Amino acid sequence: TEKTMDKIVALCKGRGFVYPGSEIYGGLANTWDYGPLGVELKNNIKQAWRKKFVQENKYNVGLDSAILMNPQTWVASGHIGGFSDPLMDCKECKTRHRADNLIEDFDGTNPAGWSNEQMMNYIKEKEIPCPSCGKKNFTDIRQFNLMFKTFQGVTEDSKSELYLRPETAQGIFVNFANIQRTTRKKIPFGVAQVGKSFRNEITPGNFIFRVREFEQMELEFFCKPGTDLEWFDYWRSFCKNWLLSLHIKEENLRLRDHDPEELCFYSKATTDFEYLFPFGWGELWGVADRTDYDLNQHIKTSGKQLDYFDPETNERYVPYVIEPSLGVERLFLALLTEAYDEEEIAPGDVRTVMHFHPALAPFKAAVLPLSKKLSEKATEVYEMLAKHFPVDYDESGSIGKRYRRQDEIGTPFCITYDFDTLEKDNCVTIRDRDTMEQERVAISDLVAYLEKKIEF
Ligand code: ATP
Repeated sequence: TEKTMDKIVALCKGRGFVYPGSEIYGGLANTWDYGPLGVELKNNIKQAWRKKFVQENKYNVGLDSAILMNPQTWVASGHIGGFSDPLMDCKECKTRHRADNLIEDFDGTNPAGWSNEQMMNYIKEKEIPCPSCGKKNFTDIRQFNLMFKTFQGVTEDSKSELYLRPETAQGIFVNFANIQRTTRKKIPFGVAQVGKSFRNEITPGNFIFRVREFEQMELEFFCKPGTDLEWFDYWRSFCKNWLLSLHIKEENLRLRDHDPEELCFYSKATTDFEYLFPFGWGELWGVADRTDYDLNQHIKTSGKQLDYFDPETNERYVPYVIEPSLGVERLFLALLTEAYDEEEIAPGDVRTVMHFHPALAPFKAAVLPLSKKLSEKATEVYEMLAKHFPVDYDESGSIGKRYRRQDEIGTPFCITYDFDTLEKDNCVTIRDRDTMEQERVAISDLVAYLEKKIEF
């Protein structure tokens, strides 16, 4: 099967996973709304992350911090001043480009860590052309700040200026002391948070891959300096195994370690998890050893004590931090790509099927009465199951067509209710989405049967 973005976008729109944002007003570029199935999938992704990173993990606890933060936060984190992209406009065709991308796309040189002047000189020296018109006439680089600015209260002056957070991480750092004190956690421990982040990206696109409003699932794991590289390896493999457990195939995943010259100045080690999206390899997850940079910055800026007293050794130190940071939408797109399949199940007969892990599938099962005469009894089965998990109910069209509709949205089990159910055995037929095999199961065993199958 060729998995193209077009097919995936069409399925998402057609079946209610993802719609273009504000569509009746002609849309708002690069915004997306998650429909009835999309919201289930998204919540299941977040739930699967929380389960393995918080609930089942003895080191980690959760947090939900505010999107709007005291602007001093962004001074400390370096987002005010830094966190901006180097932009150039083509004077001829007026298109806008990132200087670092121009260089990298031209000859593969990675200009990470270069100054704007170095980049501009390189572009002139190598006579790098505008990718849109081929001319070589650019403006100077302007730094573009990626944070969305807004105002609090009625007066729109600089004192009331606020930013929408561009990452959830800083909400964790400013609460480090609160959490340590209230949970009485000993180092090492981690704080995990899922929430919206906003970046005024200049080159959004590829459907939901790069957007301006997105959700992150971030863990900040605090450990003793000197143990950080061990923990870095630990979380790197933990994250990889988590993706594999959600049926991401190893061959579509690549762990790219940053070279020393590519590393952020505060980072000791960074690995980008890249996934083979339909448009090529793209960053899915960043795992970084951020050292004590963030906590030290907050100590300096706030004047508060954010170090840790180790009761075993009687030492005080500022912990080092390992940060795995994952975008919900990027994983959503990776899981759609991974799940998508077109299978020829008989000569000339092709079904589209989404092979989601059952724990991620929007509906866990669909109840399908074989005849409308069985509606009432089948509805009882539906109502019984709906108390435990999301299930669909469909009584329109041939059973073959109904199977196909469920395959296309990734429902792992179809439950047919027939006349034997009613008249003979009180059993239903369960069809498995992937193998298409069928088995007969007693209605009284259904909940336990499905619960076992969707376990994660
Ligand atoms: P990129 O290089 O793709 O812009 P980044 O290196 O800036 O990403 P991080 O700051 O490390 O990304 O953010 C952590 C994670 O958040 C990314 O791995 C990605 O999953 C997600 N993410 C970041 N920016 C966006 C965005 N604009 N849209 C969707 N997800 C994003």
